[in-house]
Formats: sequence, C-alpha cells, structure tokens
Amino acid sequence: IDSPDLDVDRGDVTLTGVTKRYGDQVAVDDLSLRIRPGEFLSLLGPSGCGKTTTLRMIAGFEHPDAGSIRISGTDVLGAPPFKRDVNTVFQAYALFPHMTVAENIAYGLQQRRTPKAEVRERVSSALDLVQMRRFADRKPTQLSGGQQQRIALARALVNRPSVLLLDEPLGALDRQLREEMQLELKLLQARLGITFVFVTHDQGEALSMSDRIAIMRAGRIEQLADPHTVYARPASAYVAAFVGQQNFFRGESAHGGTAVASPHVLARSAGDPLRSARGEAAVRPENVRIDADAPGSDLPEANAVRGELIGLSHLGETMQYLVRLHGGTDQEQSLISRRPTPEAPDLRVGDAVVCSWSPAHVLLFPADDAAEAGGYIAPPTA
Ligand code: ATP
Repeated sequence: IDSPDLDVDRGDVTLTGVTKRYGDQVAVDDLSLRIRPGEFLSLLGPSGCGKTTTLRMIAGFEHPDAGSIRISGTDVLGAPPFKRDVNTVFQAYALFPHMTVAENIAYGLQQRRTPKAEVRERVSSALDLVQMRRFADRKPTQLSGGQQQRIALARALVNRPSVLLLDEPLGALDRQLREEMQLELKLLQARLGITFVFVTHDQGEALSMSDRIAIMRAGRIEQLADPHTVYARPASAYVAAFVGQQNFFRGESAHGGTAVASPHVLARSAGDPLRSARGEAAVRPENVRIDADAPGSDLPEANAVRGELIGLSHLGETMQYLVRLHGGTDQEQSLISRRPTPEAPDLRVGDAVVCSWSPAHVLLFPADDAAEAGGYIAPPTA
C-alpha cells in the first residue's frame, strides 16, 4: 500500500474500470464510480445486479479481476480488509453471542492491542453514538433486532473509519423500526461526516436517505444522480420502473416522436422527442387525475382515457385507484391513479371514470426489449 496522497482525500472512494467475474458470469462489469468524502451514496438495484459484489470489493473481501480501487487516496488492491480505511455493517449483525455488548464493541480494538484505557473510552463513546450506553452489560440475545443493529453499527464505528459500508443493514427489521433506523442512520452520518456506501434493493430507502443513488443493472451503473433527479428525470425506462411506480404505455412513436401510441392510449410528452420507432411512455400514478365520467363529454385526443374503476385502496395519505381502460383486459391496459386523501374523488368500484394527465408529466423512452424480457416491470397492484 502506498501512503495517502493528501488528507483532503479522507473518505473518498474511487473505482476505476472494476470488473469481477464468477466463472463466465460477469457480476460487476467495467464499473467506474467516485464517491465523495462525507457522501451518503446508495447502490440500488434488483437482486443480482452486482451491488454486494461491488461493496465486498471496496471492503476487501473480494478481489477484482480488473480495475483499481482507491480509498482515502490509497490504492487498496492487495490490502486485506483490516488494513483499509473502511468498516462494514452486514444485514446479519454477526455479534458474538457469548460476549456482552461492550465486549463485542471492544473486540476489534483489543485484537489490535489498543491500550485498555483507550478501548474503554472509545467503546463508551461508540455506545453513546448509538444511544445504547445502558445496554453495555447485556448479551446480544437480550436485545431486540433494532438494538442489535445499533450494536453492529457501534462495533464498526469504534474503529473510526473514514468510510462505512452498509449491506442491507436494515433488511431484518420490521417496517416501523426500519423507518426509525433510516432517520437515525442519516442523522448519525450527518453528525460524523463520514462516507456511507449503502447497499439496498429498497428504492424508498435509497430515495429517503441518499445524497446520490447509483442505480445498477447487470453489473453496470445505469444512472448516478441525486434522489430528485433519479425520480423526476430517470435516464431510462429501467430506472423509471425501478424507482417509484409508473404507468407504462408501449407502442409506436407518433406525432414526430413527441408521443407514444399504444393500443388504448396516446401519451404525448412536453419533453424531448423520441428518436426510435417504438417506445414507452411513463406517467407516475400521482400525476394521473381521475374523475367520474360525464356521459357524452368529449375527451382530448392525447393524455386522457376512459375506463372502469376496478380497484380502490386506502393507503393512508393517498387513495389509489386501479382503472381498466375501455377495450382492455390485461395489465397493459390498466392504469393506476393516486390522489392525496383529502382531495380524493368519491368513486366506487364499477364507476365509469376518466383519467388524464399533463404532457409535462409524460416521459418517453426508447423501447427496452432487454429489460422487458428480464421482466423488471412490475404489474400494477390494486
Ligand atoms: P442481492 O440484492 O440479491 O444481494 P446483488 O445486487 O447484491 O444482489 P451480487 O450479490 O453482487 O448481487 O451478485 C451479482 C451476480 O454475481 C449474481 O448473478 C450472483 O449470482 C453472482 N455471484 C455473486 N457472488 C458469487 C459467488 N461467490 N460465486 C458465484 N457467483 C456469484
């Protein structure tokens, strides 16, 4: 290992042309990524896209077949995990069951022959960081899942790494605890100012916590941007489908590429025209207005459809409507609308409805046969 270039690089992680193969399977494919010091960066994507492999190469548990990795300005290829300026928190907390909480946290420091007084001081401040001081003498089995996760976090933070790697750390927690821990982790990261690299397949988690999100597909990064950009301006149909929910209409390019004509919908966009003969139009459920159909009324040619309300769900803050478009039966011809509960129209299953949306909310993408074949587009759920 060469020495760090400059202290300003602490917490910087740079991957250049990193590839990892297992047999003839390419898990990570020529991936380049620079993670900035103090950044909260999420690696997001479906199962098997290479998130964990990427994280494990940064940690030093896997060795890339090609490319280079620098952490805090130091080339780490060839350096074992414990010599890197990183620590990892796994989904399975991997606490030692026969040791107390304090002993678990102290273990790594003791292995490195840290003086006793310093161990005591660092364990105590790590416990304070995760607000677990009063549990110091308990065994892990006497703790809840959320408390165990906090201890796993303290055990990683006690080493004072510049970079913390987190592999689905909240995956084992129930929903409410998960949301509490999301907030806690985010606050902790902001307070400590260290770099977090967070692996998740949960798009809501990535959106709510990250400074930037890297959306991965088949070992590569499909889009790297802040949550707002990823949500509002997805780079591809794949990203649009994976982050948040979308109504997709597939068909021919129409009106000089500003619209997609599917069998039941003409979706016209205010954005850049499509440069391919076939495409997909995407509209988010929260941008689809729904009203009772007024018999005999005319509809505009584009961005409005008639249908029948076939499902109605109360989601708390919003009401969700599932509409089967006239003439259609399968998922391709259904549409989801979501309205804030206070202003949700009073509709019943079986009602004739009109759905409409603004061209400003229509995104157009070239047809993505590879992604479609991969089945990434979730069918709408009632
Ligand atoms: P998940 O969310 O399911 O953990 P992931 O995005 O983290 O998925 P990886 O675990 O990085 O994906 O796996 C990427 C690809 O590499 C997958 O196709 C996987 O089957 C393969 N793979 C990962 N680890 C190994 C291994 N030790 N041996 C063989 N193939 C592997």
